[in-house]
Formats: sequence, C-alpha cells, structure tokens
Amino acid sequence: MAAISFYGGVGTVTGSKYLLEHNGKKVLVDCGLFQGLKELRERNWQEPPFNPREIDAVIITHAHIDHTGYLPRLVKSGFKGKVYTSRATCDLLKILLPDSGRLQEEEADYRNRKGLTRHEIALPLYDENDANAALRLLVPIANDGNAVEIVEGFKAYFNVAGHIMGASLVLVEMENARENGDSIKFLFSGDLGHYDQPIVKDPTAPTFADYVMVESTYGNRLHGDESSEDQMADVINEAAKNNQPILIPAFAIGRTQEILYLIRELEEAEKIPVLPVRVDSPMAAQATQVYNRFQEEHDEEYASILTQKRHPLRTGSMLTTSSRADSMKLNDEKGTRIIISASGMMTGGRVLHHAMRVLPNENATLVFVGYQAAGTTGRKILDGDREVKIFKEWIPVRCHVRRIEGFSAHADWKAVLRWLEGLQNTPQMLFTTHGEPDAAEAMAGHVRERFGWNVHVPSYGETIELE
Ligand SMILES: [Zn+2]
Repeated sequence: MAAISFYGGVGTVTGSKYLLEHNGKKVLVDCGLFQGLKELRERNWQEPPFNPREIDAVIITHAHIDHTGYLPRLVKSGFKGKVYTSRATCDLLKILLPDSGRLQEEEADYRNRKGLTRHEIALPLYDENDANAALRLLVPIANDGNAVEIVEGFKAYFNVAGHIMGASLVLVEMENARENGDSIKFLFSGDLGHYDQPIVKDPTAPTFADYVMVESTYGNRLHGDESSEDQMADVINEAAKNNQPILIPAFAIGRTQEILYLIRELEEAEKIPVLPVRVDSPMAAQATQVYNRFQEEHDEEYASILTQKRHPLRTGSMLTTSSRADSMKLNDEKGTRIIISASGMMTGGRVLHHAMRVLPNENATLVFVGYQAAGTTGRKILDGDREVKIFKEWIPVRCHVRRIEGFSAHADWKAVLRWLEGLQNTPQMLFTTHGEPDAAEAMAGHVRERFGWNVHVPSYGETIELE
C-alpha cells in the first residue's frame, strides 16, 4: 500500500517535506527548513515526525532553503541514503548549504553571548561540517525527463520547473503499487515558475499523473501588468541625472542574476546609459558562474546570447567583489553606480555596510526588488521608518526609497491552471500545498471550478493512502 504524508509546506510556504511510502521504502520529497513565525521555526528543533534513519532516499525539487535547509539536520540525525536533484541544484547547494551552516553557528553564538538561551549552551541546528556531509550524498540528475532509479520500486523523472536555475518538477513512479500490478504516478510541481520568465525555460508541461501536488504561493493573487523593466529604467535614469548611487538589496542566488540580466538588456536597448554595476556578494559571484553551466536549463534567448559568446549576466561596466578588501574599496567610489548586495531583506550581509552610506544621503536611491518580510530592516524602511538600527547605530533614512514590483519566481494561480491544462488525464486527486492557508484554499477552489477535479488541501502531519 502506497501513502503520502505531509510534514511541511502545508499551511505555510516553508518547511516543505513530503514522505512517500511504498514497497517497504520511504522517500522524502524536499527537506526544507521552516522559516518565519516562531511556532513554525520551533518545528526545526523538534524530533521530526519520522525516523531519519529509516528514510531510504531524498528527492530535492530546487535549491531554496525552504526546500533544502533541513537536509544537514537530517544527515546529522542519521540519514544515510542518497539525495537526488538536478545538476544545477547540486552546484547551487554547494554554495547555499555551507553558508546556511555558518549562519546557524552564528545564531547560536549570538544567543550564547546575549544569554538568550534556556539551555546551558545554545547549539546550532547544524554546522558547516553537517552541511558538507549532506553535500557528499548528492546525486546530480539531468533535468531532462529521463527515468532515474531512486530505490527499489521508485523511479523519478526530473523536468524543468522554470522557478529558479535548476528547479525541477518531479514525477515519481511507484512501481507495482496497485493490486493489478500497475504503477502509481505522483507529480510534484515543486515551485513553479511563471511563463516568459527570463533566463530559465517555461515550466515543462505535465503529461500523465494519478496524483498531482501543486504549489499555491499565489493561490489568491495575480501578478500585476506593470512592467518591471520600465520601472527599473526610470529609477536608473533618475539616479544618473543626479549623479548619485543606487543600492539594490537582493538575494545572492536568483534575484541578483535576474537584475543583472535586466540591466544588461536595458543597456543594450539603450534605455539606460551604461553605468558602473557593483555586485558585492561572494555568494552571488559563485552562483553567477553556475548559471551558464547547464544548457538544459536555459530559455531560447539566454541560449542565443551564449552562442554569440556573450555573457547574459554581464553588464557593460561591471565589477564583482568577493574579498572584503575589494568590498571596502567600493566605499571610495563616487557618482552614479548600481550596487547590488545581499541580503535581500537587509537582515545581514554586506548590504548593511552600503546602507550606512546610502540611507542618510538624500539624493541616493534604495530600490527594493523582492518581498520584505515583517520585522526586517527592509520592511521597516518600506513602511516609512525614518531611522533604522544597523550595527547598533541609528541611521537616518533620507534617501529615495523605491519598490519595483513584478519580480517573482512563482506562477500565480492563473499560470498554475495554465500548466495543469497540459495534463492529459483526470488525476485521482490533486493536493494544494506551499501556500498560506487562504492561498492554498483559494488555489483548490480555482482547480475545482476550472477542471472539476477531486482536490484536497492537506494539513500538517496528515497521511493519505494512494490506491
Ligand atoms: Zn522556491
């Protein structure tokens, strides 16, 4: 008897973990960290609702920490199987997971220094060594739809999901799962990209599936029509007129590359002058190298730029800084320049050093290109705070603050329906996950209304038999 259990990514967009059981084997699809609300984050510290030693294999849909950040903890708790994921995701995880380990160590140090722990010594959830141990279990898979043997009785097919570099939608085939000897095919959308997103291909159309799981991040919202290109061109041209810097806080993997791609396009279309672009993030520098590595991930335009021996993520006058010394040198620069630095919500990282100079400058511009979660420095500035605390110092906010909408790596609900249209059969059941409760319910409603399918919104810890 086959079954699926939902141990994350339900009622929330974080902590994705779905456990398939069949043929006496257990396969975990995604192994994400819970983030955000305290009651969710505490789950990272509780005993998991399954025994990590009994998991035979893990399948990872994409590199984002809410799908992968629990992997080092799983390994630390005794998981010894293999971790199957796309080749590009493997390379991105080599950058992300050790960094996540260092962040966990820093957080534990901080709690110890501040006496914030109820325990004698606060320990990290995992450290850099645990992250490296997890990396040794990775098995890189081509994101091209070919069958991959996972464990006995399980086959998987990885295809481009279009969400970020390396993201896969994964069809898991459980062989001999029915009494008549037929297999059960379960399709996981992972996080779905939207159509016509730059750099990566559109999501691969599904073909046949007995069960489907779709994400519902935007289950109750639609992306606006306003073009992020035009907004970005306006911001840059205005700053150029004033001969002043622009600071763009951006996540090092994904958003930074999208911004670079866009700036290069605007330069080539002569919609903006060629200005110095400074990418100040060691992680971004490494991630950008991964982007050109795997042809199977690129959309036509990206591929065609590469064939012309040009770099799609290189603007006309660009400098990438990895070392601290090079980063410091940026402080001496004058005039208009575009500084892109992490973290994207200004919760840490080098962007804070730049912010200390840019925020008090009434002619400079701070541009937000991503979601700013409640409580972050980015959110406070966006909400109009005139002063923010950075490195224990109160910094006045006098610069222009702009927000550019339209950068999202997620399909909205209409795009999810468009994707589902490719399915050539009526699935036995569809599950909506990876959404806040309202969004998951709304997505379920859209699918019922459009296709009349049997849809279920799972709850945390629920197990459903597949037959
Ligand atoms: Zn994601």
